[in-house]
Amino acid sequence: MAKIQSIRGMNDLLPVDSSLWQYLERTVSDVLSQYSYNEIRFPILEQTELFKRSIGEVTDIVEKEMYTFDDRNGESLTLRPEGTACCVRACLQNGLLDNQQIQRLWYAGPMFRYERPQKGRLRQFHQIGVESFGVATPDIDAELIIITARLWQQLGLMPYVKLELNSIGSSEARANYRAALVEYLNQYIDQLDEDSQRRLDSNPLRILDSKNAQTQTILENAPSLLDYLDDESRNDFEQLKQQLDAAGISYQVNPKLVRGLDYYSKTVFEWVTDQLGAQGTVCAGGRYDGLIEQLGGKPSPAIGFAMGIERLCLLLQETGQIPEDLNNNPDVYFVVAGDKAQLASVAVSEHIRTALPTLKLMKHCGGGKFKRQFKKANDSGAEIALILGDDEAEQGLINVKWLRQEREQQTIAVDDLADLLAEAFNRH
Ligand code: ATP
Ligand code: MG
Repeated sequence: MAKIQSIRGMNDLLPVDSSLWQYLERTVSDVLSQYSYNEIRFPILEQTELFKRSIGEVTDIVEKEMYTFDDRNGESLTLRPEGTACCVRACLQNGLLDNQQIQRLWYAGPMFRYERPQKGRLRQFHQIGVESFGVATPDIDAELIIITARLWQQLGLMPYVKLELNSIGSSEARANYRAALVEYLNQYIDQLDEDSQRRLDSNPLRILDSKNAQTQTILENAPSLLDYLDDESRNDFEQLKQQLDAAGISYQVNPKLVRGLDYYSKTVFEWVTDQLGAQGTVCAGGRYDGLIEQLGGKPSPAIGFAMGIERLCLLLQETGQIPEDLNNNPDVYFVVAGDKAQLASVAVSEHIRTALPTLKLMKHCGGGKFKRQFKKANDSGAEIALILGDDEAEQGLINVKWLRQEREQQTIAVDDLADLLAEAFNRH
């Protein structure tokens, strides 16, 4: 029979890679917990309307990247392409934003976008997102960026990423700027790429985001968003920069940074790397003070960011920033032969697992001769093999063999095994 394949751009995460993912996820959640952020989980499937209303109709995502289908009731549903809209929806529905509450939240999970699959760009990819609701002042903008910086520090990635920062101002400031930009770009309309020509009417700011080289050349002399900022946005941006300076975080102001979604205002930022080719943005975010109202809530300021887990794992691999003790190997492999030994091994291994909960003990299953079991023990990568035959089982003894050290095999009382392993693996 023919084998059934996975869907293009939707990858399996194999055991060889899962320990790196777990390390990354663990590091992120530990850092977030240092700042007292709490996890929220919401469904993968939402009403299509949620994303149309939040992300914006004239965006790459809504125009051509969503997995949208009718369910059996004829209701239009969409696999979430990002988490912010879902997070706001969940908070509104559950009263988490009532009475101007402040929330500091994070989430993790798969997102779905119908894009052209390539390295660092998938159709099912994974994000960790962080959102903060209810704070309008730029101290929270700084806090979010400081969190990301601590994370890169922790992961050993700081030398490989840089922070790009911009303010896109209030909606009035953007409207003024939009007019100036359209006037400028209209002079070169024939030379713009097709998408940008179309966006000149519908969403001209997104042209700044264009990846087309000729369009980028034309943009070099375009008016700058920073010259159009309203006083409040300018002031907030200054304060943000001062707080980042105070935290010792360097950044580059990039006046062309606008982000792909419609709902942003004021602060926008991206962490980019030159180690991953075209897919260089590993983390991106910004302020979206208008979104909560747009989704039916009382107006409330908000800011957040999301990072791409696949891209961060690629970056950890590419730059060799992988902790040495990261592997799927057992620490101990338990070799067992004989009926009595088989029974005794069950009790012994459970006793060890209770005594040393962080030790990885793999008991041989499936029978077979000692020799074959030894080969398995060796191939498993374990440091130590435990060997139990009927004779030892009867006397309450067990053999301990070091697989990676020149060290004499030992026969000890089973009662002393937990102590020996605690010593050998430094678990106390
Ligand atoms: P890009 O410009 O690379 O398409 P984006 O602006 O569409 O990114 P966001 O919506 O801001 O991306 O998502 C935040 C992060 O999620 C990105 O910085 C990236 O690390 C990751 N990401 C986005 N789309 C994908 C994808 N298709 N595959 C893998 N990671 C992705
Ligand atoms: Mg994109």
